Amino acid sequence: MLAQGSRSLKPGTLNSELEIDAWLRGGGLVLAASERAARSLTAAFHRARRAEGLRAWPVPGIRDWHSFVCETWQERSGDGRLVLNALQERALWAEIVGASGQGGVLLDGPRQRMAALAMQAHELLCTYAPLFLSAGARSGWQQDAAALSGWIKEFEVACRERNAMSAARAPLELLPALEAERGERPGLLLAGFDRLLPVQRKVLDAWGQWTAARAGESASQMRFYEMADAQAELAACALSCARILKESPHARLLVIAQDLAKRRGEIERAFLQFAESSGAAQRFEFSLGVPLSSVGLARGARLLMRWLRGPLEEHEIDWLFSSGYATAGDAETYALTGFMRGLRRRGWQRTQWTLDALFAQKPGAELPRAWVTRMAQARRRLEEFVTGVQAPLAWAELASELLQIAGWPHPEGSRRPLVSAEFQVLRRWQQALDACASLGFDGRRVSWDAFLIELKRALDEAVFAPESQDAPIQIAGAAESAGLSADAVWFMGATEDAWPASGSTHPLLPFEVQREAGMPYASAQLDWDVAQAMTARLAASASEMTFSYARQNAGLEARASRIAIQFAGHPQRLPEELHAPAIGKPATAIFQDVSQVPMHGDSATGGATVLTAQSQCPFKAFAAARLGAQGWEPAQAGLISAQRGNLLHEVLHSVWGGAATAGIRTHAELMAVADLRAFVEDHARRAVVESMPANAREQMPKRYLELEEMRLIALVTEWLEFERTRVPFSVAGTEVKKDATIAGLHLHLRLDRIDRLNDGTFLVIDYKTGNVSPKLWDLPRPDDVQLPVYAGFALNRQTEPLGGLVFAKVRAGENEFAGRMGNAQGALLPNVNARSSLAKNALTAEELEAWRDSIEDLARAFIEGRAPVDPREYPKTCVRCDLQALCRVYENREANGEAEDEESGDE
Ligand code: SF4
Repeated sequence: MLAQGSRSLKPGTLNSELEIDAWLRGGGLVLAASERAARSLTAAFHRARRAEGLRAWPVPGIRDWHSFVCETWQERSGDGRLVLNALQERALWAEIVGASGQGGVLLDGPRQRMAALAMQAHELLCTYAPLFLSAGARSGWQQDAAALSGWIKEFEVACRERNAMSAARAPLELLPALEAERGERPGLLLAGFDRLLPVQRKVLDAWGQWTAARAGESASQMRFYEMADAQAELAACALSCARILKESPHARLLVIAQDLAKRRGEIERAFLQFAESSGAAQRFEFSLGVPLSSVGLARGARLLMRWLRGPLEEHEIDWLFSSGYATAGDAETYALTGFMRGLRRRGWQRTQWTLDALFAQKPGAELPRAWVTRMAQARRRLEEFVTGVQAPLAWAELASELLQIAGWPHPEGSRRPLVSAEFQVLRRWQQALDACASLGFDGRRVSWDAFLIELKRALDEAVFAPESQDAPIQIAGAAESAGLSADAVWFMGATEDAWPASGSTHPLLPFEVQREAGMPYASAQLDWDVAQAMTARLAASASEMTFSYARQNAGLEARASRIAIQFAGHPQRLPEELHAPAIGKPATAIFQDVSQVPMHGDSATGGATVLTAQSQCPFKAFAAARLGAQGWEPAQAGLISAQRGNLLHEVLHSVWGGAATAGIRTHAELMAVADLRAFVEDHARRAVVESMPANAREQMPKRYLELEEMRLIALVTEWLEFERTRVPFSVAGTEVKKDATIAGLHLHLRLDRIDRLNDGTFLVIDYKTGNVSPKLWDLPRPDDVQLPVYAGFALNRQTEPLGGLVFAKVRAGENEFAGRMGNAQGALLPNVNARSSLAKNALTAEELEAWRDSIEDLARAFIEGRAPVDPREYPKTCVRCDLQALCRVYENREANGEAEDEESGDE
């Protein structure tokens, strides 16, 4: 087993490696099954020379099959035909599919997918069944296959007209050229071919001398383990690799994983987590890349180009600014992100922004002038060209120029220093751009928008993998592992369903054609043979091999792969040392921060919410009130909940504003209103016009605002009907501003409303649309102290005796007061339910005093800088907070083994 007992791992001593190395040193040519395999063999050759202590050596003769065939054909062909690249060929197929009766009805996306399928089917025929390239042989094909047959015919005509050729035809074209040629050719040594296809064998035979690298001896140690689940399997594999590297630091390890693209993140986390035990971090790399479009630099370039012509989503702009790919340096990045924050603070957020709309905003912060100049200049440059169509080459050149003007890190001179990985992305980007430029191979001209669509497609399909750092652990899929060798291999996911891998046959080709030609997935036996050949190749590429599988996968029982059993016997239980510790070591270092940074000054912004936050979680109060940290709610097409709440407050403020707002001030005036709905309508209409930022209002459809107004009118009318049932009262003030000093902390407070009750006392009211309860104020650690702060510190104890503090729950069909009253029935609601909390739990002087003491303690703790990450009720408190990324509560709780309580939600 990989992680057990003593081992003598000797890199580079397997038969096939020795044979290939000797062949290359002798100046021979090695033909690798794929580009990736060719890269691996080249890396192994260089590694061996370095190990010999050499400082310089000749370039090894290693070629991959595809480029070998194309280049060999081009050297011999005299007709000057262009070998189409993938993008050119797909464009040709898309044109043919689109012009046909079957594909003409498709939208661009499905048409492109159909074109890709047709191209794939053509390649399969070239490789496995060239007989069917003749139209006569396809005459009996029906339905979809008949459509494909017609497209192939069209494709051949189109190629002839353009003097071009599909790369898939290159081996077929090369064959007669080789057969007609006389003379000796250098011998070829084949590496990494799991299955030699008929057309490959014919080409090789026509070439002359060739031989396949001898498979080495099968691994001397083979094991098969079963685990409970996929996490345990991943942990065991990562632990095993870490232990081997600890014992043999120069060992080379190969991990084979199924579904690598999907599981990449999960695998990366497991290896990072367990790498520490090997004493070295980051000692693994994936052989499979990621789509270029998902890499930051390329994404930034696309967004910039799109923005020059139309709007970007707000979240795209936030990403673009904070990524730094659109800026000339940190100062510009900070200014731009600050500008976006300014828009937010004013409630001017939009789901989309054009450049002009953004340029026109004045949120109190300025857009950096240099950035505005560059973007405006880039846009002007684009506008000079953009109407009409151009050759793709002209658009590609313009794209480079625009990006350079806009400040994107350009290959020919970036405004900021680039790291090596960014240079590699730039190279790959340039290749994708060149491929798009090559779409003009047949003289076609396209619009800028069409060019951008092609560019997006090219970026989605291009794979970017950073240059190998020759990490000791290589992680690959089974098919991509050709050409890789190691001291030990761990094959994960060896289940009956996953190995042999199964797949679907091609939907456009007749099934019997696929079966007879032995195309992929056309028969179970074929899948079995291919998987067996790959397994044999892997077993021969290392001295130790371990298979593993998880009994439970996504809730389903899995069985062990029969191929793995054939090689390594029946699965065994995992040895104890490969069981992951109950809680893995965290990748982050834990640091117990007990320091306190007292406040400078004695005033805090945020009103009573500072003390509410201090009670909910001291770190939250510190981060929000002292560091200015805040959540980032995505912009919505309509009103966000905070805006809705503000509107309701504004309408009620206007209604109870007295003469100044053409409103009312007393219960008697409320009773005297003849048409309550009409009365509310005026106030609601004014509130929507006056209290919503014009920028926000202009963005919303008129009808939407009308509906919002209707909702407000209904809500407030119903609430006022409810207030009519109250004991007579008068309104002492709405949106009342008060200053309070609590244990030395100055707060500016704003109370929704204060009523004078019939017994001469004062009632503090806070409007709520949610389902809140006075339980929030329960000591010793209240979840909310806003109303207790108002009740205890905002009113003058001599002139404004407290009669109660209540939430006014303005909710359609559920209007009510909730809180504490000195005399609920006598001073608030004559018909109050005697069993309600409002009636039963009267406000007492002791309760008020206890709140005051607790609030003063909170104020003192805030001033002293007490800021531990200590949520009142984990995870409920954290679910309602936006600062998880700052306090890292989730990671730390997990690392400490504190189980998560799934319960969540607002009260
Ligand atoms: S997420 Fe939780 S722990 Fe973090 S600051 Fe907010 S309440 Fe405190």
